Amino acid sequence: MSGVAAVYLDYAATTPVDPAVAEAMRGCLTLEGDFGNSGSTHAPGAAAAARIARARTQVATLIGAADEEIVFTSGATESNNLALLGIAHANADRGRHIVTMRTEHKAMLDPCRHLEKSGFTVTYLTPARSGLIEPAAVAGALRPDTLLVSVMYANNETGVLQDIGAIGALCRERDVTFHSDCAQAAGKVPLDVRSLPVDLLSFTAHKLYGPKGIGALYVARRAQPLLRAVSFGGGQERGLRPGTLPTHQIVGFGVACELAQVALHTESARLAGLRERLWEGLASLGEVYLNGAGAARVPGILNLSFGGVEGESLIAGVAGLAVSTGAACNSETREPSYVLRALGRDSRLAESSLRFSLGRFTTAPDIDYAVTTVRQEVVRLRALSPAASVSRGGAIDPEAWVAAQKGSGRVVTGEAGGADLGTWVRFQLLVDGLRVKDARFQALGCPHTLDAAAWLCEQLPGRTRERLIPGVPAVWAASRSVPAEKLGRLLIVEDALLACLARWA
Ligand SMILES: *Cc1c(COP(=O)(O)O)cnc(C)c1O
Repeated sequence: MSGVAAVYLDYAATTPVDPAVAEAMRGCLTLEGDFGNSGSTHAPGAAAAARIARARTQVATLIGAADEEIVFTSGATESNNLALLGIAHANADRGRHIVTMRTEHKAMLDPCRHLEKSGFTVTYLTPARSGLIEPAAVAGALRPDTLLVSVMYANNETGVLQDIGAIGALCRERDVTFHSDCAQAAGKVPLDVRSLPVDLLSFTAHKLYGPKGIGALYVARRAQPLLRAVSFGGGQERGLRPGTLPTHQIVGFGVACELAQVALHTESARLAGLRERLWEGLASLGEVYLNGAGAARVPGILNLSFGGVEGESLIAGVAGLAVSTGAACNSETREPSYVLRALGRDSRLAESSLRFSLGRFTTAPDIDYAVTTVRQEVVRLRALSPAASVSRGGAIDPEAWVAAQKGSGRVVTGEAGGADLGTWVRFQLLVDGLRVKDARFQALGCPHTLDAAAWLCEQLPGRTRERLIPGVPAVWAASRSVPAEKLGRLLIVEDALLACLARWA
């Protein structure tokens, strides 16, 4: 694999394209291949149209749909938008209320927010600690003006599977349209719209070894009169999603769906076994919390919160693994995962969480590497925490330290911050006469905090009380490449030095 990461365990973010998919796509691109416009009446056009028709059947078959119930889109984000906005705008005269969950993907929450700005009301249900929503809670949220309920099948962070059969059934009883985001479920667990009361269903190729940029919205026959297009053009996809069809993408999606369906049962058993191996390897660390415990989950996802470690340090420490995190450092919003927060995890545990997602090319040695890497890092970080007696930089017993210096000097200690702030620093200065002879520190914090404290310890020996602190945090930040938004943590480091100064009377 190219890139830095040694082991890829982020299949829930995206998957590589299966070699057979890449091969099929290649046949639709160049002059020798089926590159034509499927809307053209000549032979190349007809060849492309035939390829697309076959792929449509492959895609429809994966979920038990009829060919004409599949609308190709650019992916699950667009499918969700088309479902939600298309139903809302076409039926606003009947009602303006929508029910969904707080733990949905942003590709559902953001279009909901958009609708709220144009006069719709959205109820966001909170799941139980397991991540599950009670069908009764959905029933209780329905109003006479409810147009649409949208509940995802498999959650992308925890893998938790909702009871969409029961939820769909109660929607049907009340004549409310039911949509489900199945991006993480399609091709991973059995999914058959002939037995599931779902009206609209989103899925995407790149989560099941197809290419990025292609997905589908299943629109049940009975729901078709309720859905209106949100973009306009040449009338393709029965006008619901116009634009020249991307033959290579659709053909790749089709092959991917067929492969996923053929392998579904053996693959899900294999992944469940690997996931169990991972869980057993990590659970024995203690203070490891399984997110989504008590709920049925897709076989490939394991989401764990690690107690007693700081999130950003954990993520930095497992850089050889490509996994997703619930921590601020990696997410664009710089907030702990809202999904884990909705399950009742406090922000500290939400930030020190890792989502391992396994897939087709994951092997037992990959899992063993992950277990070793994460175990080593969690053990190391827990040893650094203030509750532990081991320190980074060595001795902490002042008497022993002074004794080692042949009895001369004394130790000045200053600390600042706290575990609740995610940053804590303690400096110990061995002071002899007017100068610092040696400096040590202990810290809990992000890698930048640890680096700055270690660097300061190198600067301190030889300094007098008057000139103890070498410059100001903004300058340290510049010389140690600390991002501007982390400056607050360096202020805690400075506070710890100021505390030393106050004690060094
Ligand atoms: C990945 C994902 C999406 C977005 O799919 P795209 O094809 O990338 O637009 C939406 N919902 C869920 C649950 C997902 O996992």
